[in-house]
Amino acid sequence: KFSYANRVGFGSANPTGKIPLGLKRKGLRIVVTGGAGFVGSHLVDRLIARGDSVIVVDNFFTGRKENVMHHFGNPKFELIRHDVVEPLLLEVDQIYHLACPASPTNVVGTLNMLGLAKRVGARFLLTSTSEVYGDPLQHPQKETYWGNVNPIGVRSCYDEGKRTAETLTMDYHRGAGVEVRIARIFNTYGPRMCIDDGRVVSNFVAQALRKEPLTVYGDGKQTRSFQYVSDLVEGLMRLMEGEHVGPFNLGNPGEFTMLELAEVVQETIDPNAKIEFRPNTEDDPHKRKPDISRAKELLGWEPKVSLRKGLPLMVSDFRQRIFGDHKEGGN
Ligand code: NAD
Ligand code: UDP
Ligand code: UDP
Repeated sequence: KFSYANRVGFGSANPTGKIPLGLKRKGLRIVVTGGAGFVGSHLVDRLIARGDSVIVVDNFFTGRKENVMHHFGNPKFELIRHDVVEPLLLEVDQIYHLACPASPTNVVGTLNMLGLAKRVGARFLLTSTSEVYGDPLQHPQKETYWGNVNPIGVRSCYDEGKRTAETLTMDYHRGAGVEVRIARIFNTYGPRMCIDDGRVVSNFVAQALRKEPLTVYGDGKQTRSFQYVSDLVEGLMRLMEGEHVGPFNLGNPGEFTMLELAEVVQETIDPNAKIEFRPNTEDDPHKRKPDISRAKELLGWEPKVSLRKGLPLMVSDFRQRIFGDHKEGGN
């Protein structure tokens, strides 16, 4: 049976299995479920660069082979097409569990990955979400806030699925002694983001590039806090390597209304881009902003990339994917 502590060669001197960042140590075997997706593929880049062996488990529901293709041929990289709803047998040290469509499979997949972590003694990290706070009555949101979620609304299967995933994670921790970590991720953007899954940043950027109007839902006064993907990946890795279970909010406290976001997109891509108002979706949270004091204090983490710095990095990737390499003078 594998145990995390034995594997990294610290033995009983380091019962928590904690690997101080920057310390030389044996490469780990790491599973990233959802590793062909937006966040997962950036995480995989960092883990491979660090010298670890990475197994990506993905069913390509929303992810793309293109996101990880640059690792093909590297003996330390492996890609498995697999739905995490089905059991999976592997021998690994760490599991970053990102695989999640907005549906109940999120719960079954999490159960399987926790079962895997329990069997092989791997450390398990759940990527939960700020949506567990629902339409929050506390602002900004602290990890101690229990949230305001409608159990039967149109957004519920994602919100409640992640809440259940957090519950399962803590039950496996308390009941089976699995080493777990929980991240509550706030809205994240960056290169490789799905172009047409309807998220606001990807919608606005693609619309501005295609010379279409930016679709603002509702009055556009609702707020979100947008985090650049490299900041998130740094936070996930610090959380995995650190000694705290969490949950930890990982997000950028910079708060924008959707109209302000539209302005930043206009400044970055096309000052003449038009704005078009559309009806908002049901149960849309009015505001959202992370309180990140806990992550600052216990993980020594805070975001470094502002929206105005990060957005252009995403725009050049979108330009290439939308127009191809040789058109429109993509930067
Ligand atoms: P994404 O859709 O790009 O990545 C998810 C990946 O999981 C995809 O590659 C998809 O193919 C894969 N997947 C889905 N269902 C699967 C299944 N049953 N079996 C195997 N693979 C499966 O999304 P992302 O933005 O990279 O999100 C990654 C994680 O972070 C998710 O758990 C998401 O809930 C969480 N999160 C993301 C954000 C954000 O703003 N991007 C915010 C909060 C939480
Ligand atoms: N599981 C898995 N891989 C493993 C070990 C378990 O996919 O290496 C799955 C297993 O099929 C089960 C789930 O994880 O559906 C929970 O496993 P656990 O051992 O905790 O529960 P049990 O099987 O005892 O109900
Ligand atoms: N939104 C918008 N225009 C779009 C897509 C989304 O105004 O084209 C709004 C949406 O109503 C919500 C906010 O942007 O208030 C963030 O939506 P997203 O789906 O990106 O993230 P989430 O609601 O999950 O935080």
